[in-house]
Amino acid sequence: MNPTFWAQYLDHLKSRVRADIYHDYLACLNCRMMSEERWELCLPDRATYNWVESQLYSVMLESLQTLMGEKMTLSLSIMDDSNLDIAARTKPGQLPFEEDLPSVRDTSVCESYEAAYVISAERKRMTPNYVKVQQSPSPLMREATKLNPDFSFDNFIKGSSNEFAYAASKAVANNPAGAYNPLFLYGGVGLGKTHLMHAIGNEVRQTTDLRVRYMTSEEFTNKLISAIQSKSMPAFRERIRRNCDLLLLDDVQFIAGKESTQEEFFHTFNEFQSYHKQIVLTSDRPPQDIKNLEERLKSRFAGGLITDIQLPDYETRLAILRQKAESENVILPDEVAQYLSSKVTSNIRELEGSYKRIKACAEAHKERINMALALRIIEPFLKTRTVTISVDRIIKRVCTYYGISVEDLKGRSRTKPIVRPRQIAMYLSRLHTNLSLPDLGRIFDRDHSSVLSGIQRIKLELTRDPAMQYDVKRLEDDLLA
Ligand code: ADP
Ligand code: MG
Repeated sequence: MNPTFWAQYLDHLKSRVRADIYHDYLACLNCRMMSEERWELCLPDRATYNWVESQLYSVMLESLQTLMGEKMTLSLSIMDDSNLDIAARTKPGQLPFEEDLPSVRDTSVCESYEAAYVISAERKRMTPNYVKVQQSPSPLMREATKLNPDFSFDNFIKGSSNEFAYAASKAVANNPAGAYNPLFLYGGVGLGKTHLMHAIGNEVRQTTDLRVRYMTSEEFTNKLISAIQSKSMPAFRERIRRNCDLLLLDDVQFIAGKESTQEEFFHTFNEFQSYHKQIVLTSDRPPQDIKNLEERLKSRFAGGLITDIQLPDYETRLAILRQKAESENVILPDEVAQYLSSKVTSNIRELEGSYKRIKACAEAHKERINMALALRIIEPFLKTRTVTISVDRIIKRVCTYYGISVEDLKGRSRTKPIVRPRQIAMYLSRLHTNLSLPDLGRIFDRDHSSVLSGIQRIKLELTRDPAMQYDVKRLEDDLLA
């Protein structure tokens, strides 16, 4: 190796790359081989290699060619992996290890992540006016931050079941690490937690230059295990802790019972907090109810804002369906939308699934969606999956559960042992039937505002009273069984 060339090369690179980037990523650059046509340089670990290879390769090649001539070629490799020759591995257009790449905040090195990929893929020279920014997220972009561009705030329908979670998510997106940190969203499956989480990520990416990373906790665990096995923990930490400003960790209940994952996540969590970086978590239940989750994590999770998403009511289900059809330019007759929204009450994913089945069948038969088709497709499915619940059944079930009479429940008594079951019956009726508040008012012999306040009371209690959660869950399980 010629030390003068090497020093000149590093000087040249320093003049082309921002100081902190040089310090973080290129100070550890080593030379493995120098010939008159080709240099082979190496980096200490895979994370650094991945980043440098995707973001700085062009500028590194250009520096080399400026100093040593246009014909020079450059290959990069990882120091402890001598078989990995990138020049040999990478065909034009094929991107190595894209899923591990950190997102890029550094706009002066490269204006966008997408642009960096374009450069890396095509091995073009990096000149300021070359760097193109694609407007819409490309599939590669999606891979890198793992954000799904289809989930936005705009296409999230608000209703009383999710408005608080929506508002909290919006606040976090507008002011990362400034509103609630962490934000903890919980609720049953298919109710929109992941949707909101991606919406936060997408909005933050559009409005700031913060680096966003979405991960399921399973992925966190798997990556951690493979980092431990391959002895590359520093790279793992670097990727999660340093190369990310907003961490979206989905389905965090899965880290329960996994000791090393919890340990690592605890430190990640602390580091994020101390650097004022935002964390958003989702789970199927509130932190205190996650079994085998370390106390210190429970208390950390509870340190920001915990908010739940509940089963959407009939109107919200209907609005979601209508929006879905509209966004796909599908004509969904009102009758069918109402039928589906009143029958498929368990969650939004199932509701969307029913709609998709009908749509696919209509397309296959080249006919428009109509009620006969909907009945044909959905009825057999409903028979096995859901039960039609009438208000009468709900009222009877609640009365039996609490040992009171239907007359008492509908009567005027204001004592707690009667009021609570009454409110629970109202709540369940609103959730599992398509009756409006005035309808329920007539049935419960009250005006619709007392029905509404009863329902809201239960919703509030459900967020803070485990006994209430237990009772309502048991009643629902019974009714839906
Ligand atoms: P979860 O993560 O709670 O299990 P998801 O976020 O995956 O649920 O939601 C399931 C499906 O329902 C997704 O396709 C999502 O877009 C849709 N969805 C849920 N809630 C809403 C809503 N309020 N508005 C529009 N779509 C919704
Ligand atoms: Mg989810």
